[in-house]
Amino acid sequence: MYYRSKVTINKLQRYDYIIAGGGLSGLSLAYYMNQTVLREKSILIIDQDTKTKNDRTWCFWEKDNDSPFDKILLKQWDKVYFHGTNFSSELDLGEYRYKWLRGIDFYNFVKADLLTNPNIKFVQERIERIKDTPAGGFIITTENQYLGEYVFDSTKPLRLDLSNAHNMLQHFKGWEIVTDSPVFDVECPTMMDYRVEQRGVGVRFMYVLPQSATRAMIEYTVFSDKLLSPDEYDFELNDYIRQFLKIDKFSIEHEEFGVIPMTDESTPPKAGNHIVRIGTSGGYVKASTGYAFQRTQRFTRALVKDLVTVGKPQTPPQTWMKRFKGLLDSTLLNVLLKNRASGKAVFTALYQKNPTPLLFAFLDEDTTLPQDLRIMSSVPIGAFIKGMISAIWKRI
Ligand SMILES: Cc1cc2nc3c(=O)[nH]c(=O)nc-3n(C[C@H](O)[C@H](O)[C@H](O)COP(=O)(O)OP(=O)(O)OC[C@H]3O[C@@H](n4cnc5c(N)ncnc54)[C@H](O)[C@@H]3O)c2cc1C
Repeated sequence: MYYRSKVTINKLQRYDYIIAGGGLSGLSLAYYMNQTVLREKSILIIDQDTKTKNDRTWCFWEKDNDSPFDKILLKQWDKVYFHGTNFSSELDLGEYRYKWLRGIDFYNFVKADLLTNPNIKFVQERIERIKDTPAGGFIITTENQYLGEYVFDSTKPLRLDLSNAHNMLQHFKGWEIVTDSPVFDVECPTMMDYRVEQRGVGVRFMYVLPQSATRAMIEYTVFSDKLLSPDEYDFELNDYIRQFLKIDKFSIEHEEFGVIPMTDESTPPKAGNHIVRIGTSGGYVKASTGYAFQRTQRFTRALVKDLVTVGKPQTPPQTWMKRFKGLLDSTLLNVLLKNRASGKAVFTALYQKNPTPLLFAFLDEDTTLPQDLRIMSSVPIGAFIKGMISAIWKRI
């Protein structure tokens, strides 16, 4: 007796560009494409999720005040508080602004822009396989098969277990709390507060993002090799709110939990002639900080520029300066993972001894070699030299 298979293989659908994953990098890429001649191309965005929930909030710094997302920011500030070891200060950000954007506002804003273009289509399907073929990038989802001249893939998970890489996790839990009386300084968020107990490998800090005098997001962040138990995050949040913010009565309105890989694992964007990795999969997350929002804007804009000007994605040249910046990321990861210096002492020294705008430029990889050397001379030098030698050795 024969049963007919219930699985129907639908006809192959062809697009110029297929964006696999409609999260931060996929939607940013589509948004910038839609502002250029590429809006004439047929573009498909595939995501397994509807992206209708506020699944994350982004904080980032930026000089530019004409960013397309400025109008949907929840808040922006020109100064931040920093609390480290024997150093607490309000830091002036110079030309930079520290910006806070809710995921849901970003998804809605970008989707509204894309939906005005009939050449852009969204499907909610789970991608099972992505393969480079001579005819193009081929995708199999739970329901369909697609072929694109280029597939831009943000769905491939990183390995995070390679022995020639440093692998850390940035994990955090946040509570959006509301108080009865005004307690928060709306004009100044706390970007990092290292006064919390440091336990074991890595570094731990809090940040406080005030929305109003009675409402703020308090986030406990850990850079380490392992996640904590759910109770540990809650304990630390509770303790910080009572001990440092001196708040006894509050209600929790919203919770956020996230894990960001901090790794120097090799993530070449080109994964085949027709497949380009973007987002976390393409190495857009800064290994030593976990920040990705601003880098994603920068990298997706560069990708769109290549597509417009030369018709294909270009591999950016691996200059010695780029390799050096990569080595600095690996060195910091090495110092933290091997406990060569206390993480909170390192970050305190960086923020105490350097102007914050210079540090932001350094973390954005916009500094010159003399500026890099000035910044590196402000950290515990012996620990960093050992970390750098170990990082080079690991690569070899
Ligand atoms: C909670 C949280 C808070 C963060 N906060 C900050 C911050 O403050 N500042 C900062 O700079 N960075 C932050 N990050 C880091 C980084 O900005 C985000 O992780 C960012 O979303 C990464 O972009 P992406 O496109 O790589 O991944 P995502 O935005 O996660 O997009 C990937 C998309 O692919 C889809 N997908 C995955 N697998 C499949 C599949 N098999 N089939 C179909 N679809 C699939 C997912 O549904 C998702 O929508 C945060 C990360 C998290 C998790």
